[in-house]
Amino acid sequence: MAALSHTLGDLRRSGYRSRPVKQEIRDNLVCKLKAGEKLFPGVIGYDDSVVPQLVNAILSRHNFILLGLRGQAKSRILRALVDLLDEQIPVVPGCEIHDDPLAPLCAACRARVATEGDDMLIAWLNRDARYVEKLATPDVTIADMLGDIDPIRAAQAGLNLSDELTMHYGLLPRANRGVFAINELPDLAGKIQVGLFNILQEGDVQIKGYPIRLKLDVMMVFTANPEDYTARGKIITPLKDRIGSEIRTHYPATRHNAIAITRQEAWTERPGELKVEIPDFVREVVEEVAFQARADRKIDKRSGVSQRMPITTLELVVSNAERRALAANERVVVPRVSDIYAALPSITGKFELEYEGELRGAEQVARDLIRAAVGTVFTGMFDGVDTRTVVEWFDLGGSLPLADTTPAEEVVGSTHAVQGLRELTERAGLRSGAPAPVVASAIDFVLEGLYAQKKISRNEERGYSAAESAPRRPTRREEQAMDEEIRIPSGKKKYYN
Ligand SMILES: [Zn+2]
Repeated sequence: MAALSHTLGDLRRSGYRSRPVKQEIRDNLVCKLKAGEKLFPGVIGYDDSVVPQLVNAILSRHNFILLGLRGQAKSRILRALVDLLDEQIPVVPGCEIHDDPLAPLCAACRARVATEGDDMLIAWLNRDARYVEKLATPDVTIADMLGDIDPIRAAQAGLNLSDELTMHYGLLPRANRGVFAINELPDLAGKIQVGLFNILQEGDVQIKGYPIRLKLDVMMVFTANPEDYTARGKIITPLKDRIGSEIRTHYPATRHNAIAITRQEAWTERPGELKVEIPDFVREVVEEVAFQARADRKIDKRSGVSQRMPITTLELVVSNAERRALAANERVVVPRVSDIYAALPSITGKFELEYEGELRGAEQVARDLIRAAVGTVFTGMFDGVDTRTVVEWFDLGGSLPLADTTPAEEVVGSTHAVQGLRELTERAGLRSGAPAPVVASAIDFVLEGLYAQKKISRNEERGYSAAESAPRRPTRREEQAMDEEIRIPSGKKKYYN
């Protein structure tokens, strides 16, 4: 990049041309598209759905809104627009609305250019400073958003109140020549929406009855919950009309994508000597809990279940395993499926309950979700595998008093006598010669899977034992019926991938 100009004269001679912000973003996007660059890095699972619509909206120079439930990467997408801005743009130094030295808006900057001419010093503004974000709440005022006029300042300077020199700028003018993002747009009071619309449409606005003219150059982007947005009377029609594109976001469509997002976001690489090794089936079950929650009628669909649920769940799962490893002096931290129950504090706060769910209680709802998730993952992995040898061991009176605090060596030792168990762990991906914590985790998965399928039972005192209702071995047909019973709550076979 050529050296940056220091004065207005340098800038003019360099041939620099300023562009409206939407044009600038469009130009930079076109470059990235031509170069085949990855757009919106870190946004996973939207390549065939959201990203093409975003690209089209930007190419069309639209203001746009992302409609989606919480935890669908809406804010991340909006913040990524910064990468589409020029790295730096020239500004009049000290101007609160980042005036363009070649075409200043405010009276003060116009006066400076007129008196100082080509000798006027200019400054360069980094793109990070050109993104302004505001969470809409009902108490946001016109003064917050657009600005206020200061009658004392006007009186002292002998100015007319409608003169813009008397203005305290709000967030929108301060986003001039940049991107202004408003989260949860429907929560903004109607008259503020009118103010936004006027400034977008006409470049003028009335504050305390005085008309103020500000021809701002802003790309406006918004987010909203889809139901709030479409509810009658929540958004004033003229503003809705000015939003060029409505783009729907969604939760990960596959468990595979969900795992990739959580892998990127969760803090699982712990500093220290202990190495963390997370088995695939633990990752699968953690994601499946969220899939089950999103499909559960005890949970409010309108507020959704954020992807932050599996992210924080996995962090607690790793921590529970870390705690066990430290106490048992184990060298490697290997989470178990049963550690997910220790993550209840990260699950219960991530959903809103329907009436039926409230009757059952958040903790019990979460436990049901975990058990159903284990059942779904286990059934998917053990489809057609004969587990009867292991189940028989329990039916004949065997029991295993295991807990999430039981050290790995003890889990492995105490399950040695259970015929057929090692074969089943191989099915769960266990390789020979794996260290004890890895073996223990695979054993735990098989036992939790059989418990989820109701083939064995589990309680506080006795640990795992025979299923209460079934001392005799179930027939094949009954087994299939049980498998189906586990599958029904989600009703979504598409998650098997
Ligand atoms: Zn200015």
